Amino acid sequence: LPVIRAQNTPDYMPDSKFYKIEAILRPWRVSQVSSGLLKMGIRGVTISDVRGFGAQGGSKERHAGSEFSEDMFVAKVKLEIVVSKDQVEEVIDKIIEEARTGEIGDGKIFLVPVSDVIRVRTGERGEKGERMTGGRSDMISTANPV
Ligand code: ATP
Ligand code: GLN
Repeated sequence: LPVIRAQNTPDYMPDSKFYKIEAILRPWRVSQVSSGLLKMGIRGVTISDVRGFGAQGGSKERHAGSEFSEDMFVAKVKLEIVVSKDQVEEVIDKIIEEARTGEIGDGKIFLVPVSDVIRVRTGERGEKGERMTGGRSDMISTANPV
C-alpha cells in the first residue's frame, strides 16, 4: 500500500498543475520583488497588507507600549502568485533574490497546490485560465520558437 503510506508521511505533497506561491514579505521590498517578477514575465500577482508575528516578534517595529497590544504584530505584505508547476522554482528564487536582507523578519514563502484557475471574463479553465497573454510562457516560446 505504497500510496497510503506516501500520504501519511510529512513530506507528502499533492501533485498539481498549478501552485500558489504565497510570500509574506517586508513592505518596503515589495516593489523590488514585483519589478523582478514582471521582468521574468510574471504578470498575475495579488497583494494584501497584512500583519503578523514570527521570530521578529514585533519588537523591532513596535511602538512604545504594552506587549499585549496590537503593535506586537509587524506590518507585512502578502504576495499571492499562481503559476504553472514548471515556473514555481524560478519564481521562488526571484522572490528570495529580491526580498532577502539576511536579517530576522525577511519573511516566509508558502507553496500551495491549486486545483483549477477560472478566468471570469471567458470562463476558461485550467491551462487556458492560468495563461497570461504576453506572460512567462509567451516570453519563453518567443525566445525559443519551434
Ligand atoms: P482578463 O484577460 O480577463 O483580463 P486576467 O487573467 O488578465 O483576465 P485579471 O482580470 O486582470 O485577469 O485579474 C484580476 C486580478 O486577479 C488581478 O488584479 C490579480 O489581483 C489577480 N490575478 C490574476 N492572475 C493572477 C495570478 N496568476 N496569480 C495571482 N493573482 C492573479
Ligand atoms: N503561467 C502564466 C504564464 O506563463 C503566468 C502566471 C502569472 O503571471 N502569475 O503565462
